[in-house]
Amino acid sequence: MCGIVGITSTKQVSSTIINSLKKLEYRGYDSAGLATIANGQINEKKCQGRVEKLENILFQNPSKGNLGIGHVRWATHGIPNTVNAHPHSSEIVSVVHNGIIENSEELKKNLEKSGKKFKSQTDTEVITVLLTEKLEKYDPLNAVFETLEMLKGSFALGIIFKNYKNYVIGARRGSPLAVGYSNNENYLGSDSYALKTMTNKISYLDDGDVCVLTKDDIKFYNSKKNIINKEIFTLSEDKSAISKGNYKNFMIKEIFEQPVTTKTCLKEYIDKIREEINFYNLPINPKKMDKIVLIGCGTAYHSCLVAKYWLEEFTSLNIETDIASEFRYRKIRFNKNTLYIFVSQSGETADTYAALDLCKKQNVKTCSIVNVVESSIARISDCVLPIHAGPEIGVASTKAFLGQMLVLYLLTLKISEIRNNIEHKEYKKKIGELKKIPKLITESLKEEEKIQLIAKDIYKSKGSMFLGRGSSFPIAL
Ligand code: GLU
Repeated sequence: MCGIVGITSTKQVSSTIINSLKKLEYRGYDSAGLATIANGQINEKKCQGRVEKLENILFQNPSKGNLGIGHVRWATHGIPNTVNAHPHSSEIVSVVHNGIIENSEELKKNLEKSGKKFKSQTDTEVITVLLTEKLEKYDPLNAVFETLEMLKGSFALGIIFKNYKNYVIGARRGSPLAVGYSNNENYLGSDSYALKTMTNKISYLDDGDVCVLTKDDIKFYNSKKNIINKEIFTLSEDKSAISKGNYKNFMIKEIFEQPVTTKTCLKEYIDKIREEINFYNLPINPKKMDKIVLIGCGTAYHSCLVAKYWLEEFTSLNIETDIASEFRYRKIRFNKNTLYIFVSQSGETADTYAALDLCKKQNVKTCSIVNVVESSIARISDCVLPIHAGPEIGVASTKAFLGQMLVLYLLTLKISEIRNNIEHKEYKKKIGELKKIPKLITESLKEEEKIQLIAKDIYKSKGSMFLGRGSSFPIAL
């Protein structure tokens, strides 16, 4: 997953777009680009590689304009190169896209038959070509609605139009999208991180929504073209957490934050006076549960695998684990007494969101374990259990993985206690043991130099084998 940004303002926007794209870098990407409108022209710049490279290109040849869109791409259709990088522009319209247009091949063939030409190998370019065609007949908003009707798949879109110098349109189906409000300036972005340095006033689009941003106003429409109102959220201030401080990189910073993040997480969930775990809002009474299904992708899925061992050991429940991308495409027998738990650091993992959405449609009970509480996954779950790890920027998960396991362990103990599967004395003992974790991590981190020596020994080897049994097996994975 990667990201998009859009800005309409009274000031020059290209450097703000670059700064927002930098905030989206944590998602992983292969190319970057931006488009602005100035002197009646769409001005597009893009490159394979990092946002820094794009910044250098702009440094040598600045892009003017009070309105623009930006993108970091994770290629799904067509190799990562400059031509395939976003935006994809025609003479009159420019588009950035996150997600996949599933019927792009079919649309492309039909458009080619009617003489349309394509420059890239991407699925996204069909949107540009379709919009260009629709704009001959329709105004921008209706051209967007007409185009969206033809698309299958998932997307978040940012669109600008050569002839509308104060107009950014956003659309969402499946991929996350938010807007931010400011004075004489409004923003579009994939998540609140991208917008946080500019504003703390945010609204989120839901599936099917379209938004029209001018510098003074934001309007929302549902898929039936009706104007809708959106709640405005005020984000908490934690800008310092998004800088590297004195650390060499985010990953090492986040490893060293683990004593603090585990302490915060334990404080949030363990009542100090009663020595009791607080989970008041579980959507099913654990006494009435018959099964738990744990769902995630990548590292989050591994935390689910660890939790399966714990839940099987401490409760009498049936436990299943599933990779979200498999869960969503299988023929699942949904059950009202089963709790479906979704784990995702960002709360925006596309497959996890889709699996959760499937559960919502089946009317079964869901719970999410996320780091970003304003995220899409958190917003549609019946119950949210935040891991309180603070922003995790490093792509390899460290403190968030630990936080996920911690919350899953607390949940295991709580469910076990309510179901009378664990003796009270044992339950209290386990809570006492949990409280020692931050100190134990601090002790382990003191071994940094020794660990570096081991790393130096092995980092050039052709391969490594990680072994583990029981709950250590997922850790080895
Ligand atoms: N499917 C589009 C592409 O390959 C967008 C990928 C993305 O989400 O960055 O260009």
